[in-house]
Amino acid sequence: MSGQIPLKYQKLMARVSDKNNNSKAEAIKAFCLQCVDYKFKRVRYCSASNCALFHVRPYQSKTTD
Ligand code: SF4
Repeated sequence: MSGQIPLKYQKLMARVSDKNNNSKAEAIKAFCLQCVDYKFKRVRYCSASNCALFHVRPYQSKTTD
């Protein structure tokens, strides 16, 4: 599995695999990155508004509507 994880995300994935890490933000970030093959811009522009993580996903732009 770790062979498929880009180098820059390997520490994050190791942290979320640690049973002592209870960071929900990191878990969500890791889940979203896995969902879109580690392309952070695909998380930012995700259009799956029916996904439970949609409104809390990382990498959203800071602009307000
Ligand atoms: S919010 Fe988007 S990127 Fe994150 S898990 Fe859901 S569908 Fe995947």
